Amino acid sequence: MDIEADLLVIGGGMAGLVAGIVAAEGGLETVLVRKGQSATAYSSGAIDVIGYLPEASEPFITPEEGLTAIAGLYPLHPYSVVGYAENVTPEKVVDAVVERSRESVNWLRNHLDGTIATLVGDFSTNILPITILGTTKPTCLIQKTMDPGDVQEREDSTLLFAGIMGHPDFYPASAAKTYLEDRIAFGLPSRKVAHCTIQVAPFGNSVNVSGIEIARHLDHDEALDDLAEQLKEHVDKVGATHVALPPILGLKNAVRNQTNLKQEIGADVFELLGFPPSVPGLRLQLALERIFRKAGGRLLIGHEVISFLKKDDQLKHVTGRAPQREIKINAKAYVLATGKFIGNGLVGDERGIRETIFGLMTVTGSYYSAGDTLPSKATNRVSITSEGQPIYSTGLTVDPQFRPIQEDGVEWVKNLFAAGSVLAGYNYSVEKSGLGVAVTSGFSAAMSAISYVKEVP
Ligand SMILES: Cc1cc2nc3c(=O)[nH]c(=O)nc-3n(C[C@H](O)[C@H](O)[C@H](O)COP(=O)(O)OP(=O)(O)OC[C@H]3O[C@@H](n4cnc5c(N)ncnc54)[C@H](O)[C@@H]3O)c2cc1C
Repeated sequence: MDIEADLLVIGGGMAGLVAGIVAAEGGLETVLVRKGQSATAYSSGAIDVIGYLPEASEPFITPEEGLTAIAGLYPLHPYSVVGYAENVTPEKVVDAVVERSRESVNWLRNHLDGTIATLVGDFSTNILPITILGTTKPTCLIQKTMDPGDVQEREDSTLLFAGIMGHPDFYPASAAKTYLEDRIAFGLPSRKVAHCTIQVAPFGNSVNVSGIEIARHLDHDEALDDLAEQLKEHVDKVGATHVALPPILGLKNAVRNQTNLKQEIGADVFELLGFPPSVPGLRLQLALERIFRKAGGRLLIGHEVISFLKKDDQLKHVTGRAPQREIKINAKAYVLATGKFIGNGLVGDERGIRETIFGLMTVTGSYYSAGDTLPSKATNRVSITSEGQPIYSTGLTVDPQFRPIQEDGVEWVKNLFAAGSVLAGYNYSVEKSGLGVAVTSGFSAAMSAISYVKEVP
């Protein structure tokens, strides 16, 4: 079976879906294939643009401040790449980087408005939502359900951390303690906190239950009523003004559940930022897929691109494999958004770190060849360090149109663009920039692909 398209996007995480939606809305007949789940669906579901400079301990107050530093200090960072477009003069590089990022992030927020992953926040400032550890982290946009309201500013607030019995990801007592300790460490006034544990038994199961099981359960009205009844007792007992829950408010009805709970218990309710498996990450993934389909895109889930035909400076077609079939997809242009090690865009073995589909040149964060670098040489012995793991900075280098380049600095082919975490030159876990880079580079790669397709005969 053959499919013809203007654009084929390979990879269905944030970068691929943003590229696919922009292209489909821009008038391209767009097909998107993804073989499995993405890092996007495992993320906390908050959109980090830029939180820290590598090795810095103070977060950036605004994304603009962070992007200005990145564009000045790291010319090969994926954010900086947009500054080298043909129409940008050297003195306007920083402005171009900030503008493109602002445009992409606002585009994302507007597109997700009214969906199951509605976002709040603004490009003009970083915010500090609370995590399930009781710490805060700088991010740009959070899902509406994670909005802690005025808990951090209100002097008379009492924050109740409410855990779920049998849900091992969240310890409310420990989160409450860390929250208070952190406030004191940052010189903020102390606050009243409390903690409790609620019994929720998704489909009769109350042992080792995952956030996703609980969220599915809470999409049913009776389950939410039961949660409200139990929560109200604790809220009344401690006089809580705000209730912090792990991210479990529902897959389909989270926003509505948040509003209903607030009404029933008389306190603000919000989700803490959590770890995988992630309910908000999954909401983000599902919402973007819906938008892509609505824009006219064709989504092929469970299809892995396994081979390709390249002729001269053009990628001619790729072959995708699904359990029951193989399909040849001929497109005028392609976006590679296959992610890093979780998405499987990159793999490491005894030879080095490779790009999995086309065998494109890979580099380390220091711009040595990653193709000859053993994965163990790009990792620290200690798993969590303030410098992060260097292996996360490996990936592809691209030209200002986001086309992967080779050793000689020339693009591999003219009609392949790359976006997201398959790119080199940034370390999302240190910088807190993961989904922001995916949005901005996905948006930019799609713009380049649209221009390319519209120019070819
Ligand atoms: C645990 C965790 C928590 C995180 N938390 C945050 C956070 O709170 N905020 C934030 O901003 N960032 C966060 N990040 C980072 C962020 O999730 C990633 O940077 C971002 O999701 C990368 O998006 P992507 O589209 O580039 O790649 P991915 O989301 O990984 O998508 C890659 C896609 O490519 C597909 N694919 C791969 N190979 C093929 C093939 N051969 N054929 C077809 N399809 C293929 C995969 O199936 C997948 O769909 C987190 C990351 C992790 C791992």
